[in-house]
Formats: sequence, structure tokens, C-alpha cells
Amino acid sequence: MSDAPKMRYETWRALALWGEEEEAAALEVLRSRSLFRYYGPDLRHRTDAFEAAFCEVTGVAHTVAVSSGTAALTAAMIGLGIPPGAEVIVPGVTFVGSVSAVVAARGVPVFAEVDDSLTLDPAHLEERITGRTWGVMPVHLNNVAADMGPILEVARRHGLRVIEDAAQAAGVSYGGRPVGGLGDAGAFSFQLDKNITAGEGGAVTVSDADVYDRVARYQDQGGQFTTSKGATRGTGDHPPFVGANLRMTELTAAILSAQLPRLVPMCRRLRDVARQVRGETADLPIRWRRLPDEDGSGGDLTLFLDSRLQARALVADLNAAGIPAHTMYQGQPVTANRAVREGRTPWGVEWERPPRLRTSEALLGRSVTIGLGAAMTDEDVDALVIAFRKSYQDITRAQ
Ligand SMILES: *Cc1c(COP(=O)(O)O)cnc(C)c1O
Repeated sequence: MSDAPKMRYETWRALALWGEEEEAAALEVLRSRSLFRYYGPDLRHRTDAFEAAFCEVTGVAHTVAVSSGTAALTAAMIGLGIPPGAEVIVPGVTFVGSVSAVVAARGVPVFAEVDDSLTLDPAHLEERITGRTWGVMPVHLNNVAADMGPILEVARRHGLRVIEDAAQAAGVSYGGRPVGGLGDAGAFSFQLDKNITAGEGGAVTVSDADVYDRVARYQDQGGQFTTSKGATRGTGDHPPFVGANLRMTELTAAILSAQLPRLVPMCRRLRDVARQVRGETADLPIRWRRLPDEDGSGGDLTLFLDSRLQARALVADLNAAGIPAHTMYQGQPVTANRAVREGRTPWGVEWERPPRLRTSEALLGRSVTIGLGAAMTDEDVDALVIAFRKSYQDITRAQ
């Protein structure tokens, strides 16, 4: 048993709003006995419906539902035609799944620094481009979009494909446009911690019909069932290729669809909570993480302290006061992962030790992220402000 103090509120997102809609949606699929998306005794086409609804949320022409966020990233790159051995630039601050997907798509990850937004630094992205660079994967971290304006500008100038890792940002937008529709393809995750969830799940968003066709085929064994549905999917005028099975189940899609109407309001609420906390502590000299588009964010409260030690002290103090707080990824860039650092894939060593990402390491290491939950009450927010003010002042004065 952990002796961690009990938190005043939960940090779940979709899970905090879980209701009868999920139960009814799941029961309907169970009773239909048709859990496979392409046929069954009484198929309800829940995966088709989820894809259509997700297009509405993201404003993108096509969605392909898949089994995970990593699967979505992999399928997106394969859909875009990544050549074997091609380099994809990934920010140093991300979940290892971004890297796994590049490996699964037979690419080679190259790592770039983040800036004070904790998302890809467009200037360092440009420095990392070589003749082998094929694509870039900006990561929208913790409900905050990467600075897509300058990133897209660099990518366009160098002819790079842009795959948005939107695993942590469903419902978030940048410049008034939802993430997932800003680059050449977007990838979402529906794992338990994400904005909508069925335990596992993912989605690829694309606007190009040919890319859509390739993604749809790849996730379905090269088109085992998609092509048998005739004109409903894809253009069908490409030579066949061998794919994989990354299909979503009807149960997953039904549960996700039940949550979709809550997604954007939930992001708005979390953004307003974050805004309120920043507003009510504006008299303190806090260095908040830069938000490239605060209006489109889905709620993030991350600040930088003077040192790792100070960050650790603030986390401990907040936790003791019942406020959920942590340093993302234990303060380590993804290149600190031993397999990533050593370039080890299931097929052997595929890249040389990446250079140390000193800026990313320094920023992430002295950052603290305060957890926000979708079911937070106004009283929870008031308690958070009081506890945070006190902890911040105690910790920064003490050192
Ligand atoms: C969760 C996540 C993934 C992977 O999603 P899974 O559904 O767990 O495969 C990829 N990238 C980022 C940034 C994530 O947070």
C-alpha cells in the first residue's frame, strides 16, 4: 500500500464524467453480439459512426479508428508513404509511444529540443534537418498544442511531412482549428489517461483521400474487409500491399461515441480552471509554461522552478496538501529511456546514441504540473488556489 496522501480531487478526464451513456452504449453492442466492426449477426456500425463523429470534432475529412495511439501514429506514417530508414524528428519531451511508432513504421527517430512551451522548438527542428529527414512529429503535450505556425513553416520550406501526435490533446485547437487537422495527418489515443477513453483505442485523422485509403487498408490487413465494402471506403486504384491488424472493436467505438459530446465542453472547463488559477496567483512571480495558443488549450498548469530540487520540493508540498502534482515523465526526456538512447529495436541497434537534449532536460526537470480533473468543483478550484499559493511561497522563499 502506498502511504501517499489522499488527494482532494481526482485528475481523471473522460473517466471523471463517466455515466449511463457509456453503459447503455456498451450494452447495446453486447446485446447485438456484433463486436467486430465489419460484420456480425446484428451489426450496429458503431465504429463507422465514431469515425464520422470524430471528423466533426476535428474538422478533418477522414478518420480511421484503430486500436491505440501508437497504432494511429504508425498507420499515419505508413499512410503517408514513409520510406524505410527515413528520419522523423520527434521532440525530446514526449511519451515513448511516439518513438515506438517511428520504429514500427521502419523509420528512424531523430530528437529535437523543446522550448519553454515544452513542445517542439521550431528553431531546433530546423537545425536537425538533414538529407534523410522525411517527417516531423510535433507533440501536443498535456492539452496544449505545439506552436504549429512556425513548425509548419519550417516543414513546408523543407518539404517535410507533418504527423501531429495529438494523443494528449483531443478537443484542443490552435489558431481556431482543432489539432489533428493542422498537419498532413493526426493521431489520437484513447488510453485511460486521455481526454476520451475506452481503456485503449486510437484514431488517425487525414484530409487526403489517397492517404486515407492507405491508412484504412493498413489497419485492416491491407484491406481484408475494407475493400470488400465496395465504394464505401477508399479509392481502390492502388496496387495492394500487406498490412496489419490495428482494428477498433465496436465496443470501444460505442463507449468513445458516448463521450464525444462532452469532449469540447470538458476542455473548455479545464482551460477556464487553469485560467482562474493563473489569474488568482498573478501577483506572484510564477514562471508558467508558455502556451502557444492559450485560447485553444484544454487546461494545463505547468510552471518552472529554479532547480530540480525546488521542483521536487513543490511536488511533495502540494501532494501533502492534497493537490495532485507531478513532474512529467519523471523530469526525463524520452532520450533518457535506455532503449531509445542505445537505438535498440526488436531488430537490433538502428541508430547511434542521440545527443543530449540539455534544454529539454533542464526545462522538464525543473517543471511541475498541477493535475486538473474534469469533475473539479468550484470549491476544489478555490482549495487548489489557496494550497498552491501557500506551497509556492513556502518553497520559493525557503531556498
Ligand atoms: C498516450 C500517448 C501515445 C500512445 O498512445 P497509446 O494509445 O498508449 O498507444 C503516444 N504519444 C503520446 C504523446 C501519448 O501521450
